[in-house]
Amino acid sequence: MPFHLFPALPALLAGHLLQAPADAAAEVRHLLLDSRRVGLPAGAVFFALRGPSHDGHRYLPDLYAQGVRLFIIEEGVALPGGLAAYPEAGLLAVASPLAALQTLAAAHRAGFTGPVIGITGSNGKTIVKEWLAQLLSADEDICRSPRSYNSQVGVPLSVWELNPARHTLGIFEAGISEVGEMTRLAAIIQPTEGIFTTLGTAHDAGFASAEEKLQEKLRLFAGSQFQRLFYCADQPLVRAAVAARQLPAFSWTRQPEQPADIRFTAEPSPSDHTRLRADYFAPGLTAEFTLPFADEPSVENALHCLAVLLHRQVEPAEIQRRLARLHPVAMRLEMKLGRHGSYLLDDTYNNDLAGLALALNALARQSRPGRRTLILSDVLESGLNAADLYARVAGLLPAAGVSRVVGIGEEISEQLSQLKIKNEELKGQDDAAASTTVSNPLLIFNSQFLIQTYPTTEAFLAQLSSADFAHETVLIKGARRFGFERIVAALQAQQHGTVLEVNLDALSHNLQHYRRQLRPGTKLMVMVKAFAYGAGSYEVAGLLEFQRADYLAVAYADEGVALREAGISLPIMVMNAAPDSFDTLRRYRLEPEIYSFEMLAEYLATFYATEAPQPTQPFLPAPRIHLKLDTGMRRLGFDEADLPALVKLLREHAAHLPVASIMTHLAAADDSDHDDFTQEQLATFRRMAATLEEALGHSVLKHALNSAGILRFPDAQFDMVRLGIGLYGVDASNTVAPAALRPVSQLRTTISQIKTLPAGYTVGYGRRGTATTGERRIATLAIGYADGYDRRFGNGAGAVLIHGQAAPLVGSVCMDMCMADVTNIPQARAGDVALIFGEGLPLPELASRIGTIAYELLTNVSERVKRVFVSE
Ligand SMILES: *Cc1c(COP(=O)(O)O)cnc(C)c1O
Repeated sequence: MPFHLFPALPALLAGHLLQAPADAAAEVRHLLLDSRRVGLPAGAVFFALRGPSHDGHRYLPDLYAQGVRLFIIEEGVALPGGLAAYPEAGLLAVASPLAALQTLAAAHRAGFTGPVIGITGSNGKTIVKEWLAQLLSADEDICRSPRSYNSQVGVPLSVWELNPARHTLGIFEAGISEVGEMTRLAAIIQPTEGIFTTLGTAHDAGFASAEEKLQEKLRLFAGSQFQRLFYCADQPLVRAAVAARQLPAFSWTRQPEQPADIRFTAEPSPSDHTRLRADYFAPGLTAEFTLPFADEPSVENALHCLAVLLHRQVEPAEIQRRLARLHPVAMRLEMKLGRHGSYLLDDTYNNDLAGLALALNALARQSRPGRRTLILSDVLESGLNAADLYARVAGLLPAAGVSRVVGIGEEISEQLSQLKIKNEELKGQDDAAASTTVSNPLLIFNSQFLIQTYPTTEAFLAQLSSADFAHETVLIKGARRFGFERIVAALQAQQHGTVLEVNLDALSHNLQHYRRQLRPGTKLMVMVKAFAYGAGSYEVAGLLEFQRADYLAVAYADEGVALREAGISLPIMVMNAAPDSFDTLRRYRLEPEIYSFEMLAEYLATFYATEAPQPTQPFLPAPRIHLKLDTGMRRLGFDEADLPALVKLLREHAAHLPVASIMTHLAAADDSDHDDFTQEQLATFRRMAATLEEALGHSVLKHALNSAGILRFPDAQFDMVRLGIGLYGVDASNTVAPAALRPVSQLRTTISQIKTLPAGYTVGYGRRGTATTGERRIATLAIGYADGYDRRFGNGAGAVLIHGQAAPLVGSVCMDMCMADVTNIPQARAGDVALIFGEGLPLPELASRIGTIAYELLTNVSERVKRVFVSE
């Protein structure tokens, strides 16, 4: 969407022009925030954002090389390479690039005269937005936020997509986590109508009270253009606040007495549907509707939408037709193992251009070696003509590393074939004009690129052999009606009923939480030992690499090798490297922790002649080492008494001994009873490290803190910290505000069978579960101690959640199954999900029930349990 702004840009953004672009007619078409995502450099403007651990200015040289010619940078920040490194670029310095991004988006929004609906609230924003867009798609051309793009950065990017020539309605969601944020989002969205979903407890950390949070959220609806707020009058706090602010409102209720514009009354319904009557008082309309689901959150979300449709005077019969087609929103991208060593990114919900771009970003972040394939259906709702649309789709592929496309659908088949022909022609010309440095942007497919097309999903499935995708990373992206879940089912590795779901967004969230505790310049090492605390080492490491952690650490050399083979290139420390693995360390660039004289001698013998201080000209450099000091843990490391001998060795080998860091480990960083001891450990560490650095003749990285230490001893961060369990959402220090960390892992299984147990009967081995208090309903669950479910949870010590209710275990936990009492959960059925740990069953509490710690529960989940990685 071209947007001529250039001469006006400095004034609009209150910036100062360091350098005008060589192309004076430059126009702004795409907003860029991330160097890894440049698909279309022409017309792109890059905003150099800075965060606690991120500095966009670092990417300028790379972006310039990729062809980006317009940059918004922060006033006073030095440019890498100086101005001279960007001869053709326009560079505008502003006080805050984030504020500039928001201002630009707001100016763009102001050019749209149609209605814009802003959605906020604690839960349901994304689903209400998606459903409303589905329900109104017959009447309007809608621009909506992709997925849950609702943040200070996501909102400007979403609003930027509004096209006055095409769209007739905008629907955007706004999410906030602290005071002051909503005013900025309101200025960008400028809603004419609004929906307030619910006031929940999520994100409480940034607010003093629910009241304050509510007041902040309602600021979205403060503009002079605002006409109408749709909300549920059954929330007294919300009702009072809407009245106090005199917001123009349209309300609905489900209570018999509550005054409102619409009353919904539930009628007796089948178990998987909801029938209700709507009384719309002002026009005196009564209508009946059936929703194709029964769970409470979905019903609530649907009623928000229904209120909007009724107010728009859509005919009830038409509303019902649209409601019947409403489908659940799988807003998440799921990553899972496929057959034959393939890896699947499953995103089979919708398929518009914005959604495709996001999914391709997720693919770009994968570091797995091997071919990347996209299985793509016809792309819908773009408003572009087919040729332009698929040229744009093709333009997005190189940045994500895609080299094979399977197109499914009549339109995509036709267009991909044409692109292929055009590509061949261009290639002929390009070869002729080999002197040109910038190749034709339409020349996308090189000779290794593979294109396959099928008119329908059935045609694809009919010829599919799952080995076709062996060892590839496959993004599966299809519009709902193509039924791509059948493709996922065919390519996915077999799953038994137990799954460990790992939420990569929660992981990123926790990472940011700890990063905010670090002083500028402090490096971050993340512990991914023990299969990343059970979460899955490759995926976690890949995410950490993307999030630019500085170092990874594993316990054993083979864990490091596995990471290298999966394409991870961050430095990796190995805590317990056996001397016979030293050569492997060198080949895989893994860095051992050296904790004893024996080990140091082995190291020197392996890589250097022991007598002469000369290196024996190793073919690859010897691996860098980390010296471990024992300051009180009494586990591994050099003692203070060892220092003189160690210093002597270091002096002898200082010239070529590649010491990367000096470290120690605290014995009781989480326990204030032992803070004096901890301070002594830290003092000892300072002393010992100073002596060693003097012997080496230079300073090296020093580090001591684990997760609990990061929060409790900010003065002892030294040069680096070692984050472990906190990343996985468990606060070992008990100092974090409850909502500040998000649980990362959820272990769940399914009910295999339900039996009714007459009074006096017993369950399981040793007949240890007895129906003493009368007849019981017992559910057999598909998880046992071989999956990592601890036997100590048996006989009532543990409970699982089924339909949100606790079901205590009965009898002993067996190898592959266990039994739970579901007498009080009459709706429980075979096939239902039982939650073992996760939201509602916090790990520390579960652990304390059986006298252990969260670390053990996490790392015990056996490797036979499938990991599924999700990202919102
Ligand atoms: C595991 C480990 C950590 C991380 O500990 P958490 O309590 O999980 O944060 C840090 N340092 C060393 C040496 C470790 O072994």
